[in-house]
Amino acid sequence: MSVDATQPYDDRNIFAKILRGEIPCRKVYEDDFALAFHDINPQAPMHVLVIPKGAFVSWDDFSAKGTEAEIAGFVRAVGTVARDARLVAPGYRLLANAGTDSHQEVPHLHVHLFAGRPLGPMLVR
Ligand code: AMP
Repeated sequence: MSVDATQPYDDRNIFAKILRGEIPCRKVYEDDFALAFHDINPQAPMHVLVIPKGAFVSWDDFSAKGTEAEIAGFVRAVGTVARDARLVAPGYRLLANAGTDSHQEVPHLHVHLFAGRPLGPMLVR
């Protein structure tokens, strides 16, 4: 079911459980602000999710309520993940679903990082 991006944060969501170490993930990167791990159902040869450590439902929530340090730390973490994977030259795509029309399914902000092949048009028409 898609996320209502206006709902309060629910810490029973699957990414909150990953952050608490209650369920495993295939970790790619971690620092004080972010955790990155492989998507369980990859849509590209490389499909990593980067999530902030704070309790934010969506990009809307994060951009409105995140501290400067949280926002800077998260954005830098996404860049670090891409650079560490040597994706700058071949290129990569970032995507963050927010709310019902986007089909966001997990109510903890996540940025998808896709790479590893030409990724085609941005959206299905
Ligand atoms: P979204 O539709 O943007 O909310 O994307 C949610 C993503 O989370 C999907 O690509 C799922 O495959 C992925 N996902 C769901 N559960 C897990 C999990 N336990 N570990 C890794 N990725 C997951």
